[in-house]
Amino acid sequence: MSTILNFTGTLLKNLVSKPVTKNYPEEPAVYPERSRGHIVIDVDQCISCGLCVRSCPPRCIKVDKNEGTWTINRFDCIACGYCASKCPKKCLSLVPGYQKPGRSKAAVTYKKSAEVMEAERKKAEEMAQRKAAAVKAAGEKKAAAQTGGQAAGAAAQVQAAQAQAAAPVKAPSENQ
Ligand code: SF4
Ligand code: SF4
Repeated sequence: MSTILNFTGTLLKNLVSKPVTKNYPEEPAVYPERSRGHIVIDVDQCISCGLCVRSCPPRCIKVDKNEGTWTINRFDCIACGYCASKCPKKCLSLVPGYQKPGRSKAAVTYKKSAEVMEAERKKAEEMAQRKAAAVKAAGEKKAAAQTGGQAAGAAAQVQAAQAQAAAPVKAPSENQ
């Protein structure tokens, strides 16, 4: 009897309460605050240092500095978050939610904008010019120091020769 009463109570409760299941995907999924979803990148902030590549356990990231690209194979990513924790520019983060399902296991590549690439190219050019100027200045300083040393040595030799010539010559009798 008590079983029938319990069942009736549960039945009535379920008839008047909302369903516990979500109407996904018609309604967006609500992810728990600390869920590990997927990695996103603000690629224009990336300096192509490669720390994320070295810290990734399944080696699913590739960085090409010349092309300005950052590539991830999401099918190999285990959402550990190491890459985000190592990134010096904080341009990687783990966000809740999953990626759209795909038909192939292709990696996704993100490319820096043309403006950022141009700015980086100019910066690298300026740095190379500054380095070349510093090397040239150091070479000139070293050469000047060597020339100065040689001139000083020659002057000292001339002075010594002059002093020797000016000294009075003693007669042989004076030496006895
Ligand atoms: S979250 Fe982990 S597995 Fe995924 S890309 Fe970053 S380091 Fe690699
Ligand atoms: S660690 Fe950050 S800045 Fe360095 S290559 Fe990876 S995403 Fe770019």
